[in-house]
Amino acid sequence: MKSHQEAVSIRLSQCAKSFANGTRALQPLDLQIHPGETLVLLGPSGCGKTTTLRMIAGLEFPDEGGRVLFGEEDVTMLPIEKRGVGMVFQNYALFPNMSVGENIAYGMKIRKIAAGERAERVERLLEMVHLQGLSHRRVDQLSGGQKQRVALARALAMEPRVLLLDEPLTALDAKLREAVRSDLNKLLRSLGITAIYVTHDQGEAMALGDRIVVMERGKISQIGTPQEIYYHPANDFVAEFIGAMNRVDGIVAGDRLQLPTGTLPLPPDAVAGQPAQALFRPEDVEVIDITEADAHCLRGKLINTFFLGDRTRFEIEIGAERPVIAETSRRGWWEAGQQIAIRVPATALVTMAPRAAKET
Ligand code: ATP
Repeated sequence: MKSHQEAVSIRLSQCAKSFANGTRALQPLDLQIHPGETLVLLGPSGCGKTTTLRMIAGLEFPDEGGRVLFGEEDVTMLPIEKRGVGMVFQNYALFPNMSVGENIAYGMKIRKIAAGERAERVERLLEMVHLQGLSHRRVDQLSGGQKQRVALARALAMEPRVLLLDEPLTALDAKLREAVRSDLNKLLRSLGITAIYVTHDQGEAMALGDRIVVMERGKISQIGTPQEIYYHPANDFVAEFIGAMNRVDGIVAGDRLQLPTGTLPLPPDAVAGQPAQALFRPEDVEVIDITEADAHCLRGKLINTFFLGDRTRFEIEIGAERPVIAETSRRGWWEAGQQIAIRVPATALVTMAPRAAKET
């Protein structure tokens, strides 16, 4: 089923938000959301995700000078009921004493949509969220995952221009969360509706977002596709926040980063003699036997080995601030305490100025 509405673009321009108690929740923020995309707002608690979402919803209004546009329409001061948005919350916000069907139809009834059409839409929506046959069940007799599907169907019942989801899967247990996440992903793509999704879970952000906005202390830290954010973090904050990342400091020597325990490759634009830090993912580290180590390796001591079933995780002390983490699905085993070497391909490395130098 396609959404009946044309997908709409959303633009936030210079949207800042201070609360009466003096909290500056958002710095002036510019954000362009493409029609039909799922944009994920990701960041730690208190970074301003929900405030941004509520500003798009019309539950919060930007400080003077901020503007919110849906397509060409300026909706900055429009309240939620005039914006054509559907919302899904973490706690479902369903009417517990009503049936599934009544919950989904509630908004349509208020809008005086004819009973026949209401029933038809409810059926279509139940099918869409895989709850066929449950229309008459009371919502307090549903599982968490089913409740969240009802909440989603209810939000879509009014055929909104924009779908807003605020941590909708947080209340579900891990297994169910993954199942609902996968369904939601398919649904959002098939609907082609513009959707904004708030989460602090980077796995969820990766799985659902066409693009991810990483936020930090009321500001946008980086916007990009999941791959861009994961493989090319723009700064330390994003690198640390998204998954596990190794980080080592060294000195640029030719096309290599020189460390006391060996070298790593570098991109060609690195400046010789300068300190630099290299960042790389655990899954990009190749662990090799010390007898095979050459000048293009880092040498170290294996301090921990964890067999995780589908992969093995090695922690290697290489004389850096933190041990290097390597994760590999290849079979191969070394015991803690052994000398070992690692190699990282040039394509897997991101280089940045050292942290201390950047803070000055
Ligand atoms: P979380 O993941 O914990 O929900 P968040 O990233 O969604 O966090 P926001 O809820 O947008 O963050 O809050 C941003 C900042 O604004 C926080 O410091 C929060 O305490 C503050 N804040 C939010 N709402 C209000 C309010 N109504 N009055 C005062 N301060 C508020």
